[in-house]
Amino acid sequence: MRFGTYLFEPKKAPGFDFDLFRVKPEVGRRLPPQPDMYSNIAIFGDNVTARNHPDWISQSPLGPAWRTNDNFNVRWDILCATQPEHRAEQLDYIEDVARHSPGIWTNSHHFADHGHCTCPRCNELWKKSGLSWLEWRRKEITDYMAQIRERVKNELVISLQPDPVNSYERYGINFDDMAKYADAFNVVMFSKNYATPWYWEMLSRAFKKLLKKPVYISLYVFGPGDNPMEVPSPSELVTVSVRAGRTGIDGILYLADKASQIWDFQKAVVDRVELRQKLKTYGCQEVLDFFASWEKVVE
Ligand SMILES: [Zn+2]
Repeated sequence: MRFGTYLFEPKKAPGFDFDLFRVKPEVGRRLPPQPDMYSNIAIFGDNVTARNHPDWISQSPLGPAWRTNDNFNVRWDILCATQPEHRAEQLDYIEDVARHSPGIWTNSHHFADHGHCTCPRCNELWKKSGLSWLEWRRKEITDYMAQIRERVKNELVISLQPDPVNSYERYGINFDDMAKYADAFNVVMFSKNYATPWYWEMLSRAFKKLLKKPVYISLYVFGPGDNPMEVPSPSELVTVSVRAGRTGIDGILYLADKASQIWDFQKAVVDRVELRQKLKTYGCQEVLDFFASWEKVVE
């Protein structure tokens, strides 16, 4: 297994195999890529572009994909996935970022959710395609990922929403199509707590069964602006890492706003001696060995 950080600031945290920097998160702000951190880019989830081009927002029978639309689990504004200017601009941007970092991890490279997008352009493209509505959406997303693959000469990791069953109907994502272009997958499993690790273990096992490339999962440590009382406890994160790790996944990333929050997490994990001892019979020594390696890091 490989272990990484997933950070909103361009600063590496010691004690990991690699670091992923949110060069362009869904809020749409862009920061320069780092030569020693992988680059995470959200493509159609983009508040800045949505503000500048409100007519590019994705449309549906349940309303547009503004973050205020409670019919969908949208936490940011999501653009139509066929908007040609945004698509072209993002391809150039991705190519440039890839040249200045070890690789690209994409987010939000798909339709906003079920029923999207019903804008006049999408309707016209669908009718011209001769395909069913769902197959047309799949083709749009797969073709765009093929174009991204052409631009990224180094590592390309494709993120997935944590839905192993309905990603095709909701996002236009076919896992086998994506596997043709992905060096690996990253299933985002962000939650403000991991009180019941059973669910995350089940999802990890499901994705490991379905995906034809290595599978990373991403866990939530501390997000921007979070109240420290409302983030997952270090004990929950230790337990869920072991429980997910034993399903055969290939790696785990830990998301934080700042590298200092990863450092606080590492110190807390090192202090959880009894818990780590208790988890030795759970069948994932690899994760426990990784946590034990932090004893030297936090000295
Ligand atoms: Zn559209």
